[in-house]
Amino acid sequence: MNLSNLKKVFSVCDFENKKIIYFLGFKISHKSKINDVSCRLQKIENKFKKFDLSNKYFPDFTISSLEVHIAEHCNLNCQCCNHYSPLAKEEFLDINIFEKDLNRLSQLTNGNISYLKLLGGEPLLCPNLIDYFQTARKYFPNSNIVLMTNAILLNKCDDNFYEALRKYDIEICLTKYPLKIDFKAIEKKFKKEKCKLTQIGINKNDTIKHSWFYPIDLKGEQNINANYYNCYEGGKCNFLRNGKIYPCPIPPNIHHFNRYFNQNIPLDENDSIDIYKAKTIGDIADFLSKPIPFCKYCYVTQRKFDLDWGLSKKEITEWVKFD
Ligand code: SF4
Ligand code: SF4
Repeated sequence: MNLSNLKKVFSVCDFENKKIIYFLGFKISHKSKINDVSCRLQKIENKFKKFDLSNKYFPDFTISSLEVHIAEHCNLNCQCCNHYSPLAKEEFLDINIFEKDLNRLSQLTNGNISYLKLLGGEPLLCPNLIDYFQTARKYFPNSNIVLMTNAILLNKCDDNFYEALRKYDIEICLTKYPLKIDFKAIEKKFKKEKCKLTQIGINKNDTIKHSWFYPIDLKGEQNINANYYNCYEGGKCNFLRNGKIYPCPIPPNIHHFNRYFNQNIPLDENDSIDIYKAKTIGDIADFLSKPIPFCKYCYVTQRKFDLDWGLSKKEITEWVKFD
């Protein structure tokens, strides 16, 4: 393999003498879980088995995870929601934009996105949800397509919903909030319908969902590189909105915050990569492995992950750290 191909596999960024290694756009830091890294290595090893190393073309990159908002608003409205859904107006993703963007991404990635996550807000609020399932599966026949939900509406879903889950092979991933929801009945129903159900949480029975505090520095005075280095989201929770991919959900959703609190945190054109201008998936992988200008607005050192879960009062202090 020649040097330029090797550089595509491993890249090293020097952020103020802290060297960070990227492995196919995947940030390997002291916080990387060994399972994440070994899982990625296994996938690459499998890919290399099929690859002729004398070929000058390197096999396509993959995007490990891509999130898309099907609905901006939510029926739960948790405090500090880092997708800003409690502040959003009712809005569903235009199915034509979804189809156009997935078509383009499918061409760029050759269908190689490991996890395509349909979320929000609460995606189960969407009246034509099955159209999104059909479109996602059409362009990504081999990807894991996962709908992330707060589970409030799951017990009300009809037979068409379960039929579509089977037909388009969609996994439902629920977060167990401390609500009066019959989770056992949901599990039983999914078993009966032979549909895939997973849940967020280390412990399967853990129903205590904490609120996460992801504060913004309104002045934008934070260190971009240090922030990105210490940020879990960057390059992992990649987010698609209107033909652009961002390395995290904060900048693509900040307009909800700006509108609600009459603020003006700006987006820079370098906060995202335009999928219609990117020539290869390598361009996207390269973009996702680096900090973006918006990182200066994140107060990463002040993040908290152990607040008692609660409903939002829609106060600015749920999203801002004032000095
Ligand atoms: S964190 Fe809460 S408010 Fe935000 S999208 Fe999830 S369920 Fe809705
Ligand atoms: S803007 Fe930067 S620091 Fe903030 S969440 Fe995204 S990647 Fe992380």
